[in-house]
Amino acid sequence: MLFIGVSVKKAAASKVLAPDQAVVAPVAKVVAKSLAQKALEKLGLRRDIDLALHLPLRYEDETRIVRLEDARDGDMVQIEGQITHSEVTFQPRRQLRATLSDGTDTCVLRFLNFYPSHQKTLSVGALVRARGEIRGGFIHREMVHPSFKLAGGELPGALTPVYSTVAGLPQVYLRKAVLGGLARADLSETIPPIFIGKNTPCGIQSLGEALYFLHHPTPDVALATLEDHTHPAWQRLKAEELLAQQLSQLQARRVRAAMRAPPLFSNGVQNTQCSLHDQLLERLPFHLTAAQQRVGSEIAADLQKSIPMHRLLQGDVGSGKTVVAALAAARCMDAGWQCALMAPTEILAEQHFRKLITWLEPLGVKIAWLTGSQKAKERREALAMIASGEALLVVGTHAVIQDKVIFKNLALAIIDEQHRFGVAQRLALRRKMGHEGSKMTDGGQEPHLLMMTATPIPRTLAMSYYADLDVSTIDELPPGRTAIVTKVVNEARRDEVIERIRSQIAEGRQVYWVCPLIEESESIDLVNATETYEALSAALPDTLVGLLHSRMSVLEKKAVMGLFNDGLIGVLVSTTVIEVGVDVPNASLMVIEHAERFGLSQLHQLRGRVGRGAAASACVLLYSTGDAPRLGETARARLKAMVETNDGFEIARRDLEIRGPGEFLGARQSGAPLLRFADLETDAEWLAWARGVAPQMLDQYAALAHRHILRWLGGKAEFLKA
Ligand code: ADP
Ligand code: MG
Repeated sequence: MLFIGVSVKKAAASKVLAPDQAVVAPVAKVVAKSLAQKALEKLGLRRDIDLALHLPLRYEDETRIVRLEDARDGDMVQIEGQITHSEVTFQPRRQLRATLSDGTDTCVLRFLNFYPSHQKTLSVGALVRARGEIRGGFIHREMVHPSFKLAGGELPGALTPVYSTVAGLPQVYLRKAVLGGLARADLSETIPPIFIGKNTPCGIQSLGEALYFLHHPTPDVALATLEDHTHPAWQRLKAEELLAQQLSQLQARRVRAAMRAPPLFSNGVQNTQCSLHDQLLERLPFHLTAAQQRVGSEIAADLQKSIPMHRLLQGDVGSGKTVVAALAAARCMDAGWQCALMAPTEILAEQHFRKLITWLEPLGVKIAWLTGSQKAKERREALAMIASGEALLVVGTHAVIQDKVIFKNLALAIIDEQHRFGVAQRLALRRKMGHEGSKMTDGGQEPHLLMMTATPIPRTLAMSYYADLDVSTIDELPPGRTAIVTKVVNEARRDEVIERIRSQIAEGRQVYWVCPLIEESESIDLVNATETYEALSAALPDTLVGLLHSRMSVLEKKAVMGLFNDGLIGVLVSTTVIEVGVDVPNASLMVIEHAERFGLSQLHQLRGRVGRGAAASACVLLYSTGDAPRLGETARARLKAMVETNDGFEIARRDLEIRGPGEFLGARQSGAPLLRFADLETDAEWLAWARGVAPQMLDQYAALAHRHILRWLGGKAEFLKA
């Protein structure tokens, strides 16, 4: 019901166009069209089926005219009547007021922004149809900025859909495009009828019917069932979507099952007493926890198979994942194959490197170190050691997956903090086996893959998004750890926090002070950390305070980390570079500045830097409300969760609750297309149905299954789960 466009066209037509304008007009049209095309692509609407699956956010009811005497305040209604009065007033500010009367009552249509065309259409005597929210105005009932047009013309027979859109894509254009896509798309059934039993509510509709209905619902439908997605047509779509997700994951799993990986037995070792694995175990200064032993054997069982392992090792911060990884690496090396360990930051990679050197070098293992910052000569040497197979273990950052890195015989790839890597990077590491020079060059070869994360995946997500992954969980912390006490403190009480630092230092402990990343702006970020560093240095004259941030060179960072590791630095001020994996057991206090700006998982990760030794540890969450009187709701929920629990699984569950699966997973890290229609909480039954149907469908109706995946996931399916 937009008239501006119409009147502009009329205006253009009534004018005689200058010669250059006559050329400009069609060009403008083409430009507008290509802009709209771009906007459609931005929404991911490329194929007809994508358009057909772009479902309305809500509907407008233009099928009925409501009599003014029947309209209640607050109702969204369409009214029709004659304009009896129309004026532009300046009280209290410039506005257009047109009074519409339908014989039962009157209503003022009020516009604070308007064009001359508005005035023209709403001139006295005109018969007008208007739609908007009716309100009891000061004196008259009114509609503010209603949509309107001249009365006449048939009322539509279906509700008018409103779609989510982006700038440059007007609703009218999008509506046309969607309906066009719906008409052209192949909507033939892909789910065999036997899977749609009588007890499944979607049995009553086909996909085509459901889609057609959702794009043009009849006016008699209970709008609420469309809006809360309980209508059978919606149920049908949720079921289809979940089935597509399960099918694609199952397919990924089967593709992998058809691949080959070297089964890793310690056949290279004559006497298993001398295996690296057992020697390493012997040399550890602690005993493995029962959980570590259990996940260790789960991994060992996978490694002995000739299909590639695809396992996620999840365990809370500090649960001891590194040693499990080292033992898996040892098994791989015992079998005579190479292993690579990749970590997301140089600090973390270096820490692993050092630890592995102390553990494994005395046993005669050569470890190569790869990072983006190393000198060319050092890099060349490392590459040579890797290519010749002299280095059985390779540790590094993203540098490990560069093209130049050629393994002699990679059989196990370990990715620490896997959520920090993108899908493409994980894929690249898996492909390292197929390289020329690798022992196994025939196609279909993959290394075993072990991914580690301290951000556990809640069960519902594991069953849906990660259905093609095997999961091992370390569910206990090494003994002797004391729970970390977490306090939320207003920034105004900074001095008390500094006092606390002083007492920790006096006891010989060390402290982290983390400053946030402010809107990804590194420079402000830096000022913040630098200022804190200076303030703390001044407040603690007898203590060496260190500063760590992303602008420092790798050498500088290393030097600072080294001093902190050795206990010489008492307080380490840092931006979030220390977030993942840093391990200094003597640190017992973690202060997080502007804690309200961090995500829940991130806060938990940061907190996990302390509580690693036997000393009682604490975490102080300093918050500031800025100019606001109090913290926002989600920020409060996050801080509350931190105080209430130390359990990473509970934290993950609450994080999912606060953020929803989309943000929790992040499209980048999961690589999985997010569910658009189904909701894992409310549609658990559909998820169960899809899990049951997927294997049967893949076995008995492979072609239909393939079409189903393609329809729903398009080209994204093959990108699933690197
Ligand atoms: P994360 O799971 O967060 O990666 P780490 O592997 O860094 O944890 O281990 C945390 C600390 O616990 C390290 O100092 C590690 O040496 C130590 N650790 C690991 N396993 C045990 C154990 N079974 N007993 C005692 N300490 C352990
Ligand atoms: Mg770790």
